[in-house]
Amino acid sequence: MVPVIALVGRPNVGKSTLFNRLTKSRDAIVADYSGLTRDRKYGEAKWQGRTYIVIDTGGISGDEEGIDAKMAEQSLQAIEEADAVLFMVDSRAGMTAADQMIAEHLRKKNKRTFLAANKVDTVDPDIARAEFSPLAIGDAWPIAAAHGRGITALLQAALGEFPKDEVAEEEFPEGEGEEGAAAPQKRIPGPDERTGIKIAIIGRPNVGKSTLVNRMLGEERVIVYDQAGTTRDSIYIPFERDDAKYTLIDTAGVRRRGKIFEAVEKFSVVKTLQAIQDANVVVFVMDAREGVVDHDLNLLGFVLETGRALVIALNKWDGMDSHERDRVKTELERRLQFVDFADIHFISALHGTGVGNLYKSVQESFRSAVTRWPTSYLTQVLEDAVSVHQPPLVNGRRIKLRYAHLGGANPPLIVIHGNQVDAVPRAYSRYLENTYRRVLKLVGTPIRIEFKGGE
Ligand code: GDP
Ligand code: GDP
Repeated sequence: MVPVIALVGRPNVGKSTLFNRLTKSRDAIVADYSGLTRDRKYGEAKWQGRTYIVIDTGGISGDEEGIDAKMAEQSLQAIEEADAVLFMVDSRAGMTAADQMIAEHLRKKNKRTFLAANKVDTVDPDIARAEFSPLAIGDAWPIAAAHGRGITALLQAALGEFPKDEVAEEEFPEGEGEEGAAAPQKRIPGPDERTGIKIAIIGRPNVGKSTLVNRMLGEERVIVYDQAGTTRDSIYIPFERDDAKYTLIDTAGVRRRGKIFEAVEKFSVVKTLQAIQDANVVVFVMDAREGVVDHDLNLLGFVLETGRALVIALNKWDGMDSHERDRVKTELERRLQFVDFADIHFISALHGTGVGNLYKSVQESFRSAVTRWPTSYLTQVLEDAVSVHQPPLVNGRRIKLRYAHLGGANPPLIVIHGNQVDAVPRAYSRYLENTYRRVLKLVGTPIRIEFKGGE
């Protein structure tokens, strides 16, 4: 399970600055669902071969009233959800009563906590360390989030003991892991014998996820096995359908009570993000009656970022007249262009209409996501693409692309070797991506292209 790190501290200590540095340009999920968070941001980050989720909290000031009180409440919730807490303090401002209050809370919680004394560009790091030692959270890590100082040591302490992401080393001998990564461990990406295809059912609250999970598991053709043990986060339900094995990752928290399944837990962003990370295929559920809303796009952006295979289910298609249906379809075409590789199904989880058809798309997108393409074939496709449309000249020399091999699966990563690859224009890279997508007949999965220089 992908670890979760929460950034906690008073306002203005530098949490957002650190959040942005850790998650880089990756899109943050701004959780703003009614009845849920207003002020927590979630992002995906990577450090030395480990993917983790960062939560930025609103900030706890110690004298909360009104909206501030809410912010504090959300921070406390983020602490609950996290595997480790980065407790940030401001070295320039020194220790405050609010810092002490937060420290006391964290000590009571017994969470793995790392004290980060930020802004040490303005203060001597040793003085900062001494200043905050009364907080009794352990030695402070001196950092300057704005300048990237001290971050590596802090992350080493906070994340070092979490396992690295699994990478199929044997399968992809030429694919390198993250910079500085040690020998990667072996990984999925073929259908895992135990779990089959892992499907995560994802979507905003009330779009019909639990209804869909119930429908899928309640179907006559489906054999549901006893749950192999639940996790804190989502429930993993192994089942079989038409001789194919699957594991449903249920974020809606549907639990089996005798013969029926009932939802017992509420929507949680962390659960959702972890389920996406852990899935092979995401079935993304939307409410046709509401059309495409910004939160859908926000979550879909995250799915795209992780590279998971994707199937879209427009739920509650029942009882909509043809005028409404046309309107929704037009909207989908316009707003879902960025995931146009995904199949869209119009379903009614309530009545079961269209639900069975999801499996075909799940199978196909999974196959696209994990097929092993031999180097010779990928190189042939590259040569053909280059002969149809050459890469541009740079400083009078033509960019040369020599060969291509597979660097990973789910999503497929195609590594292209050549000269002057840093100068390959975005448009040309997209041309190659589209060519591969077409020739390899990929459906339902994003694809990544990476260039490597040298001979
Ligand atoms: P948040 O309220 O905790 O999210 O704090 P912000 O990230 O918004 O930062 C508050 C202020 O501190 C901003 O003006 C930042 O530019 C500044 N800041 C953040 N990190 C550093 C740092 O490492 N050094 C200095 N000198 N200023 C910083
Ligand atoms: P979740 O929060 O995403 O798990 O959503 P639920 O499965 O709890 O569904 C939310 C509401 O939508 C419930 O009242 C369901 O009965 C209703 N609902 C779910 N699927 C459908 C559907 O296909 N058609 C209609 N009309 N209502 C549905």
